[in-house]
Amino acid sequence: MAALLKTLFLHPPSFKGFDGGAGARYQARREIRSFWYPTWLAQTAALVPGSRLVDAPPAGLTLDDVAPLARDYELAVLHTSAASFAHDVGVAEALKRENPRLRIGFVGAHVAVERERALGASPAIEFVAGNEFDFTVQEIAQGRSLASVAGLSYRVNGHFERTPERAPLENMDALPFVIDVYHRDLVIEHYFIGYLLHPYVSLYTGRGCRSRCTFCLWPQTVGGHRYRTRSVEHVVAEIAQATRHFPTVKEYFFDDDTFTDDLPRAEAIARGLGRLGVTWSCNAKANVPLSTLRVLRDNGLRLLLVGYESGSQEILNRVKKGIRLDIAREFTKNARALGIKIHGTFIMGLPGETRETIEETIRFARDIDPDSLQVSLAAPYPGTALYREALERGWLAKTELVDAGGTQTSVLGYPHLSREEIFASVERFYRRFYFRPRKLFGFLKEMAQDFDVCKRRLAEGRDFVKFLARRHSSA
Ligand code: SF4
Repeated sequence: MAALLKTLFLHPPSFKGFDGGAGARYQARREIRSFWYPTWLAQTAALVPGSRLVDAPPAGLTLDDVAPLARDYELAVLHTSAASFAHDVGVAEALKRENPRLRIGFVGAHVAVERERALGASPAIEFVAGNEFDFTVQEIAQGRSLASVAGLSYRVNGHFERTPERAPLENMDALPFVIDVYHRDLVIEHYFIGYLLHPYVSLYTGRGCRSRCTFCLWPQTVGGHRYRTRSVEHVVAEIAQATRHFPTVKEYFFDDDTFTDDLPRAEAIARGLGRLGVTWSCNAKANVPLSTLRVLRDNGLRLLLVGYESGSQEILNRVKKGIRLDIAREFTKNARALGIKIHGTFIMGLPGETRETIEETIRFARDIDPDSLQVSLAAPYPGTALYREALERGWLAKTELVDAGGTQTSVLGYPHLSREEIFASVERFYRRFYFRPRKLFGFLKEMAQDFDVCKRRLAEGRDFVKFLARRHSSA
């Protein structure tokens, strides 16, 4: 076999503070400083010995910082997104100018669904990988000819070729630990998520989600609708390794689409984590039964990240969320009774949204009262059913998902509800949820108990005020 190509995995610099690369489902600059780990890229980097992972946005690296790296590598793999694609193409071209011999490939959900279109964006891009790109990229780094690598589109003699599709990965334990790449290449203190303890570390224990929400990017593009999982032992061994690498970590986060899709397995992992004595959190659907919640809580679960999306049952049905509001209420009450914190996420402007449903959703959120929440604008990413529906029905008023500063824009508008109204509803939602005595008192209490939390919340408060100002200037 040929020698391994010297490989750089890059989440390119784009908008300042942009959290959209290889780990963020919503690709935009956030309300407050926020960065997910570039887990998809790290997973592939773990398969290519001697490679390096550079995550530019959290490290504050600019194009001037990363372009010279091109001279040291033979292959560069760039993770891109719908929002940052044009910037990322510019980075690829700058790398190519620095080192004309550098081979450059793009990966990520956005290009996986439009491979030839992505290739056509610039001659600097030699190949684009399909859905699950881990072993595709590994084989390229091993020096195999592109024609022999499954799951790829590539440029040859002025035209594009496409190889046969790569079968989804079934043996998830074949993926080496990402934690070793984080340890080698990343600074964990750079990664912040407002509702997670700091420093935190996140990773995946499986891929895919059984639900079919029409707006959700990953299951419809890179992950699929079966929950393909790593063994319990493999996951617990990785966390054990992480505790040795990162003794200062305060919390582990399992960023699987829906960690609670397989309840017996979630309970088994929890028991393993309980033996390690770590604090952890995960994504969950709002339907986890009380008995499972209790097992998870008893074994270190601190917080659940829950996509409620809407307080309108009609909208939930329409976007195929597969959740009943009464079940979601019951679940939230149970979690609260057990002392499990909840970060709820909501989306404004999904199909069926009206002025009335916006009010219903705000009332629902205040009523169930998660500890914190995030409100996003409906984002029709290419490759999703929502995108196709929006195109067919003429709802797409514009195509840029973020503004010039990387903040989410409102792109869906309906005959009865303009995109400007939907945009404005996000701020109204935040204000009516957070500017209540109960919430403000909760923040003050938390800040009084812990000086580090106090400093962090003040910084986040400043970020939030700036976020509102940015929204006003781009409205
Ligand atoms: S349940 Fe969550 S992760 Fe699964 S498809 Fe719906 S939004 Fe996506």
